[in-house]
Amino acid sequence: MYVAMLLLLVASPVAVYSSVNGGTSCIACTASVSLVDQLALVHTEGIDKAMQRLCSFLPDDYKSVCKEFVSLAGPIIIDLLANGENPDTVCQALQVCKTEPPNPTCHMYPKPKNGFHVDAHRSKIMTKYSDKLKEIADIDICGMLPGLKQICKLADRLPHAGPGEYMPKVDFDGDGYSTLDVLRGTSWRGKDCDDRRAALHPGARPEDWDRYEDSNCNGIYGIDPVSSKPYEQLLCADSDPMGIVVLGDSGAAHFHIPGEWFTPSILNMEMFLNVTFVAGNELDWPSMSAVTGFQNLTMPIIHGWTDSLYQRLRQRNLCNHRDYQSIAVNGGACGNMNTIVKSLSRNQQKDYPVLAIYSLVANDVCNGHPDTIAHMTTPAEMRQETLITLDYLDTVLPKGSSLVITGMFDGTIVYRYMHNLFHPLGQLRKDLTYATVYEYLMCLQISPCNGWMSANETLRNLTSERGAALSRVLQDLVEKSNYTNYKLYYLDFAIGINAEIDNYINHGGSAADIFESVDGFHPAQTLQRILSEYIWSNLMAKHPQTLGRVNTNNEQILKLFGDQGGY
Ligand code: CA
Repeated sequence: MYVAMLLLLVASPVAVYSSVNGGTSCIACTASVSLVDQLALVHTEGIDKAMQRLCSFLPDDYKSVCKEFVSLAGPIIIDLLANGENPDTVCQALQVCKTEPPNPTCHMYPKPKNGFHVDAHRSKIMTKYSDKLKEIADIDICGMLPGLKQICKLADRLPHAGPGEYMPKVDFDGDGYSTLDVLRGTSWRGKDCDDRRAALHPGARPEDWDRYEDSNCNGIYGIDPVSSKPYEQLLCADSDPMGIVVLGDSGAAHFHIPGEWFTPSILNMEMFLNVTFVAGNELDWPSMSAVTGFQNLTMPIIHGWTDSLYQRLRQRNLCNHRDYQSIAVNGGACGNMNTIVKSLSRNQQKDYPVLAIYSLVANDVCNGHPDTIAHMTTPAEMRQETLITLDYLDTVLPKGSSLVITGMFDGTIVYRYMHNLFHPLGQLRKDLTYATVYEYLMCLQISPCNGWMSANETLRNLTSERGAALSRVLQDLVEKSNYTNYKLYYLDFAIGINAEIDNYINHGGSAADIFESVDGFHPAQTLQRILSEYIWSNLMAKHPQTLGRVNTNNEQILKLFGDQGGY
C-alpha cells in the first residue's frame, strides 16, 4: 500500500500535448514484452516461466498488477512470440500500440519475420483472443513495472507547480525541513534536528550561540569549559557560515532510472528492494547530485561516488553542516520555476546567506512536439519569466547571498556520443541502439527532447542555437540586474561542460558513464561529479567570495563533534 501511495503522489501526469499511436502505454508495453522475451532467453525457459519470474522479482504492490496482466495477456503473448512476432507487433496485436493515420507505424526493433502488417497468422491469434484483448485495453500498463510510470512521465513536460508544491510532505513544525528521507525530506534538504520547533532548522543563525541546544542542526552546541564561551561562537562566529541551494530541473535533481531494471541479464529481486525510496524521491537522487549531494548510497541500482558543492562547502567550513536545499524538479523550466521557487525555505532575517545555483539547462528547448522549434521558449519569454524568479528571490534570500545562473546545455554532444551505443534492452541481442530508441520516442511524440535526440543534425544544431540565444538573455540579465540582497553571477554551461565531457572520453572514459542508460539523455553519476568540479573550479577562479571562507577551526570541530550528528 505504501509504495502505491507514494507512486500516486509522484504520478498524475499533466500532458501539455498529446502523444500518438498509444504513446507512453505503447512504449511501456514494448519494453515489458521485450524484457520477458529476453528473460526467457537468459534463463533458457519458456515465455510463461519468464513472465512468472518477472512478477516474482517485483515488490508486493506491483505483484498483483503484474500477475493480473500475465493471466490475461500471457497466453496471447506466448502465441504471438511463437509465431515469430517481436515486442512491437505483439503490442500492436494487443492494441496497446496503434497506427493512427496519418502517423507512420512506430517500432523499436527491426522488422519481424512476418513484417509489421497484420498477416493471416496474427489475425487468427487476435480473433482467438478477442474477448481478452478488450480487457487488456483497460489495464494501466505504465503502472505495471517500477520505472515504467516515470518513463511514461518523461513525456509530460509540465511539473505540478503550485506554490510550495515541493515542500517536504512530512514536516510537523512547518519550518520546511523534515526527518524523513523521502517525499522532499532529507534527500533534498538538511535533516531537521527538532521537528517540533520551527525556529530550529538547518541554516538558522544561532540564538545565544547555541549555548544550550543546537538551533541550526550543524551538530555544534554547548559551552567550552575552559573559556566559558559557547562553542558555536568560538568555532563558527568568524567563519561566515552559508548554505547551498539549487533551483533546477531533472538534471540538477539527478534523475536516474536504474538501468538494471531494463537489463535482462542481471535483473533479479535485489534490484527492486529500494523501490519505495526511489519512488518517494520522484526517481531523482539529489543526495548524490552535483550541487546538494551528501552521501554515497550503496544500492545495487546506482553506481559511483558523490562529489558536490555542498560537500566542498562543508569541507571548507564544517559550520555549514546540513545546510543544503534542492529545489530541483523534473520538467523545471523558466516558466514554472517562478512558482517552484516558492518551495525554497529561507528566513531572510533569521537565517544565514546562501550560495544559490539557478540551473535550468534543457527544458526550455526540449519538448516532444513534432514541430519542436515552434514550442521552444523564446528569448522574450525567457527574460520575462526569469525576472519573476529573480525578483522573488530578493524577497527571501538573506542579505549577502549569491546567485549563480548557469547557461543552457549544448545537447548536440548527447547524440554524437550515444547514438551508436546499445540500450540496456538491446545489449543481449545487439539489436537496439540509442539512435533507434530516440527515433521511437519521437515517432510516438513522447521524446523528452526532439531537438537534441534527433537523427537530423540541422535540427540538433538549431536546438543548440536557441539554447545559446536563451543563454545570452540570462547573461544579459546577470549583467544588468541589481538586487538588494544578493549578487548575480553567470556561468557558461555549453562550451565548458562539453569540453569536460570530451576530455573525459578522450582520456579513455566511456560515454555510457556520462549519460543515463535508460533515457540516454540525463547526466549520470560521473557527469554529476564533473559538473560539481566544473562549477566549483570556475567559482574558485573567478568569484571565490561566493564560496565563503576556510574555517581554521575545522580540526577542532571534528575532534569535539565527530560526524556532527550525521544526516
Ligand atoms: Ca549549532
